[in-house]
Amino acid sequence: MSNELLVMKFGGTSMGSADRIKIAAKLTAEQHATRPVAIIVSAMSKVTDLLLDTLKKAEASDSEGLEANLAALTARHLECAKDLLPADRQDAACRGIEALTAEFTRIARGMLLLRERPPKSVDEAIAIGERLSAFLLAEYFNSEGIAAQAVNAATVIATDAVFGNATPILDATRERAAKVLRPLLDKRVLPVVTGFNASTLDGRPTTLGRGGSDFSASIIAAVLDAAELWIWTDVDGIMSADPRLVKNARVLPEVTYAEAAELAYNGAKVLHPRTLAPLAERKIPVWSKNSFAPHVPGTRIVPVIETGLGPRAVTSMTGIAMVSIEPASAEISGTKVMAEAIEALSRSGVELMLITSSSYTQSFCFLIRQSELDRAQEFLQQSLALEIAHGYLKPILIDKEVGLLAVVGEGMRGTPGLAGRIFTAMSRQNINIVVIAQGSSELTIAVVVHRKDLELAVQSIHEECGMGRKD
Ligand code: ASP
Ligand code: MG
Repeated sequence: MSNELLVMKFGGTSMGSADRIKIAAKLTAEQHATRPVAIIVSAMSKVTDLLLDTLKKAEASDSEGLEANLAALTARHLECAKDLLPADRQDAACRGIEALTAEFTRIARGMLLLRERPPKSVDEAIAIGERLSAFLLAEYFNSEGIAAQAVNAATVIATDAVFGNATPILDATRERAAKVLRPLLDKRVLPVVTGFNASTLDGRPTTLGRGGSDFSASIIAAVLDAAELWIWTDVDGIMSADPRLVKNARVLPEVTYAEAAELAYNGAKVLHPRTLAPLAERKIPVWSKNSFAPHVPGTRIVPVIETGLGPRAVTSMTGIAMVSIEPASAEISGTKVMAEAIEALSRSGVELMLITSSSYTQSFCFLIRQSELDRAQEFLQQSLALEIAHGYLKPILIDKEVGLLAVVGEGMRGTPGLAGRIFTAMSRQNINIVVIAQGSSELTIAVVVHRKDLELAVQSIHEECGMGRKD
């Protein structure tokens, strides 16, 4: 038996039903037989959406909708327990599930009364999804004779107090993990830790942002000095392009931390963009694997790769909006407007995905998610109200008919002619480029195109750069 710890994370689809949970347990048991394992789980697929929707309904005084959602939440987990566990464990499991859904119900009904959704209470409430799935999986292990314990990550991961998108405090997390997780591992009890949630140093509940369970897993792998982290999803690994757009897209056997982070940031859904950061110091390798095809090796994510240069993958993203701001007269400083706009966005908490400016007209434009557009506009209109009222600024322009693609690869650093090839490939198809941006890392060239051109642009770049399968 090795004493090298393996941390594994199962995403929402890998936890999505009793059958899937059984497979997750089997994949875990295989490893647990040879070395210590800790696992991190997401909520069952779509459950976090359901929880968030329920809280919105509560705030909007929709008590009928609220009750219907609560019933669906309880039914989904009770049904899963019924399919998952032997008869003699059903009663206890039902009581466990009902206790957790009751916690959620209490918070949701409170919001209904207050007609308000305080961010801290939202974070406490939506962690119930992961607490339910961790509970079910731990119960299943125990029923199979494998000692396991569900652990609420609020007792393990310490964060700042940015509710909804908190950042971990690693030293404090290391201390908590030593107290909570080490004793379990030492006794060979398998910890089944909730992904996504955490708590502040003084114990207030937080979450790490949507899709944050990957991040939870890497934080826990880092503080426990794990030998490896395996992230189980429903795709074969990190791909050279979205296989729905590009037929010969291939799974990349290896990518670097930096490449994986850029790919995730620019729309590859396989990994949460913040996942790799906690692992850098200890250089812990990560595998992205498919629980629906466990025999496929997946993608190995490592700190450095010596060979294999060139652009490696092209991502694509929709659901974004381009916002353009342009001074109407030369009397106003474009730099000052830009500073005010960015300050407003920073206060709004909206993520700026890309920004470019041109010096002559002093206009600038930036890209954000459509889901955050209303909030961004509210803050921009507020802080630029005077300039707009006096006619110093042209009206703010919004274009939702855009798509983002990003060409990523370590080997792009200092490879001359590459940008030329990418743009030639697009121009051959008569694709008009709206905006280009290259990060200072030179790892990524990001291009905004019209939404209607996105698929073709991705296909032609993938082809031109020979990123796909060779067969
Ligand atoms: N359940 C959370 C979400 O859906 C976290 C995760 O799945 O990673 O965002
Ligand atoms: Mg997920």
